[in-house]
Amino acid sequence: MVTATRLHDEIDEILPGLIADRRYLHENPELGFQEFNTAKFVAERLQALGVEDIRTGINGTGITGLVRGKSAGENRVVLVRADMDALPIHEENDVEYKSRNDGVMHACGHDAHTAILLGLARTLMARRDEFAGTVKLLFQPSEEHFPGGAKGMIEEGVMEDPHVDASFALHMAQHQPLGVITIAGGPILAAPDSFRVTIQGKGGHAARPQNAIDPIVIGAQIVNALQTVVSRNVDPVESCVVTVGYFNAGEAFNVIPDVATIGGTVRTLTPEIRDLAEERVTAVIQGIAEAGRATVEIEYTRGYPATINDQAAAALVREAVIEVVGADNVVTPPPSMGGEDYAYFLLDRPGAMFQVGSKNEDRGLVWGHHHPRFDIDEESLAVGLETMTVTVLRYLERGLPATDGGN
Ligand SMILES: [Zn+2]
Ligand SMILES: [Zn+2]
Repeated sequence: MVTATRLHDEIDEILPGLIADRRYLHENPELGFQEFNTAKFVAERLQALGVEDIRTGINGTGITGLVRGKSAGENRVVLVRADMDALPIHEENDVEYKSRNDGVMHACGHDAHTAILLGLARTLMARRDEFAGTVKLLFQPSEEHFPGGAKGMIEEGVMEDPHVDASFALHMAQHQPLGVITIAGGPILAAPDSFRVTIQGKGGHAARPQNAIDPIVIGAQIVNALQTVVSRNVDPVESCVVTVGYFNAGEAFNVIPDVATIGGTVRTLTPEIRDLAEERVTAVIQGIAEAGRATVEIEYTRGYPATINDQAAAALVREAVIEVVGADNVVTPPPSMGGEDYAYFLLDRPGAMFQVGSKNEDRGLVWGHHHPRFDIDEESLAVGLETMTVTVLRYLERGLPATDGGN
């Protein structure tokens, strides 16, 4: 069995290489589905490390590779996923590894995720004699924008050949200090759905509303009534948020406009509440429009599914986390209403995503994800890599622990 101390020393040794990889990626960020240079860099690294069966160009720029254990034992297959895309943000950090691609920035930490997964390839290749089973390394395009890169990779068959039994992923957490890791079973992130409503009224003179159908008044009623979906239709102990993000109508003080448009987001944590929210939001909009004699067109778009960690997989991660950072540094957070397309990997196989604290107030590394001054404490690369290595090795040794919770 791999001891955490030995692994810890080894990761300390390779940390400068991890930091160099992360900085290279940070300096050369690419937007979703355009990660051509990033993918080339990843593929070359995997080749140099001797990773087997490297497949490129999956759903655009996606890559997989295999590390096969040589020890005798249960032949489990575990997938570890990293995302490679950056954001359309102009970097405001004054650092030597600042983005060279103006207007594009790794402001979510996906550069770190990619560097850590390359580090995992290295720690696993170095101890192939010590484990049985196979690790599938997966680098995906475009996490930030719907429809995301994960779904298409799964449709192209990455969960088979060899058949994946479970998966794990990590995300940097700039709201948690360095050294802390968060892990929870069950829903951890929401399904971020969106809607756009076009209310077709009948324009006219502001002084003669009896001859018009006012889409502003109808729209205002819709905005108010949508608030009752959460307060009156959803079980108070469940989570759901409905936010109207825009309402556009009219231009002149004395004119009733013809059309109003309203749009927003609906975020939920379970498939049941997701279905309920869509049904209620749609019915409320249609009912109010009908009462006001307007016609409406509703475009309701389902985003990523909710990210639901398997209870047993989360329990296994928790054990690994305690081994690496100690029980005092494990946090079980409540779910967040953000979204993440790692969710697709969890739809029909067990798995879990954990978050790696990367904030360091003493060093001024306090800016949140998607902020132009986002930057991580790079020691978190070592913490993330060590936790992921232990998680993967424990999974290959023992499989998932028995829990009473199920998924
Ligand atoms: Zn992000
Ligand atoms: Zn992200």
